[in-house]
Amino acid sequence: MLTIRTVAELRAHLAPRRRAEHRIGLVATMGALHAGHLSLIAHARGECDVVVVSLFVNPRQFDDAGDLTAYPRDEARDAELAAAEGADVLFAPGVEEVYPPGFATTVSVGGPSERLEGAHRGAAHFQGVATVVCKLLNMVGPDVAYFGRKDHQQTVVVARMVRDLDIPTDIEVLPTVRDADGLALSSRNARLSTDERERAAAVPRALQNVLETVAGGERDAAAATAPARAVLADAGAQVEYLELVDPDTLAPLDRIDGGPALAVLAARVGAVRLIDNLLIDPKVN
Ligand code: AMP
Repeated sequence: MLTIRTVAELRAHLAPRRRAEHRIGLVATMGALHAGHLSLIAHARGECDVVVVSLFVNPRQFDDAGDLTAYPRDEARDAELAAAEGADVLFAPGVEEVYPPGFATTVSVGGPSERLEGAHRGAAHFQGVATVVCKLLNMVGPDVAYFGRKDHQQTVVVARMVRDLDIPTDIEVLPTVRDADGLALSSRNARLSTDERERAAAVPRALQNVLETVAGGERDAAAATAPARAVLADAGAQVEYLELVDPDTLAPLDRIDGGPALAVLAARVGAVRLIDNLLIDPKVN
């Protein structure tokens, strides 16, 4: 696996492969790789001739300076893990390579970025995500880019941007990888204390609880999420939002008799903010 730090080198490396019609896949990450990231890389390896893993802690998507400072960074470990999963290129640019002096452009998606994470973290969060993903797609020019379902709203925002800006990349969304107790893997989990890590299991448990409440026949969204709120309160998790939304538009649902709904949740356990989601299909459940 090659580690590349500049756009010029990346383009030079990929150009002959593109000419040979090799299928290029991109897995965009902020590092601190875990089994969730590795599942994306493994999937890309199975589908592509060239797998590029990008590693860039994007300062523009952090709404909390402390979160950015505390974000775990270990490039040597990430490089080892990405290589072991079969990545061909680790693209690890510095901040100045991505945002050179005078950088003045922001990609703002509107629509699906306005609620949930956009409302709680501020508009700058998804503007930061959209801007960096747009840039990475332009830098790499992948045929396909892989994203995790864990960040569902991000996948909707990215898919909308790709459609609206005619970016010729397919967006593939892959399932959330979880720990044995259900907690979705996240680079931020490392910051949970032992006690907080135990209490954090209430997050997936709450989502499962919504699924079971719906399976028990409840169709009113407020009533379907009420017992889950108690699960989170018992664990001392502070809920930012827990809602049932339309999976495609992210619009809030009052009732769920139509098609599938997505239960979306953001909660703080101690100082760590966790997000998760679960698809709930009233016809199946
Ligand atoms: P991040 O490094 O947090 O920006 O995540 C990079 C990519 O990995 C994003 O597409 C995430 O949605 C995805 N990802 C993060 N955690 C998980 C997980 N537990 N399961 C599957 N994908 C994940």
